Amino acid sequence: MPELPEVETIRRALEANLPGRKIVDLHVRDPRLRWPVDETRLRQLAVFETVRCIERRSKYLLIQLGRESAILLHLGMSGSLLLLTEPTPLDKHDHVIFDFEDGSELRFRDPRRFGMVEAVQPGGLRDHPRLVNLGPEPLARSTRPEKLFARASRLQRPVKNLLMDAGFLVGVGNIYANEALFHAGIHPQTAASELGLDEWRLLLRCVRRVLRKAIAAGGTTLNDFVNSNGETGYFQLSLAVYGREGERCKRCGGEIQRIVQVGRSTFFCANCQTPSITS
Ligand SMILES: [Zn+2]
Repeated sequence: MPELPEVETIRRALEANLPGRKIVDLHVRDPRLRWPVDETRLRQLAVFETVRCIERRSKYLLIQLGRESAILLHLGMSGSLLLLTEPTPLDKHDHVIFDFEDGSELRFRDPRRFGMVEAVQPGGLRDHPRLVNLGPEPLARSTRPEKLFARASRLQRPVKNLLMDAGFLVGVGNIYANEALFHAGIHPQTAASELGLDEWRLLLRCVRRVLRKAIAAGGTTLNDFVNSNGETGYFQLSLAVYGREGERCKRCGGEIQRIVQVGRSTFFCANCQTPSITS
């Protein structure tokens, strides 16, 4: 499943290529995505509009169009976007196609069809049901550790589970939560309320560093993926703990352990990540 760094990588590639292109037609070859694609509405709001910019909110891509309408996209489990400038045979999983005035096209390809493509009317993004309950963006300057600390101060849940809760902070997938907690020296089972403001400062810094490294590497995942330039492949991050059960900790030489938290594997070093840290 594409994670935040992959989606941000795609956003950047689209941002470098799409603005200024005018949509002149579109084709919905199969509307049966996670939510059915409303072709009529898509046509009304997107055709004859020019792409202004590409934004991202959590793992949603927002293609902002002229006259303030937008296309909201989610890649789901296996979605990809391809910008094609040469005639290219259709793939059976090319479900939605946008034709641009210059002859190029943007294809939404999604073999497992868990993605979404939806036209949003002007002003409709602010309180869109898919976006309204999302927590703050980890990479946004406006996301302050003071706020995370205040919100977490009443929560007994393990910090790792909270980090992965999109209502608390968006886009921190399992790999990134594991890695950030290791770099911050925080045990994944620590109750969120036990972390002081200094730990939240450090943890947010580590989350940002891990995400930025993944973005710089072009994103990382274990699945197949085609980015918007049509290149296959994720670049494997150099991981400190994730997937390294039984191996040596790169910092202290201790053994990396694995436990399961809410059905997800957690990897940590019991020497480097202490259960309770007092600031
Ligand atoms: Zn260690």
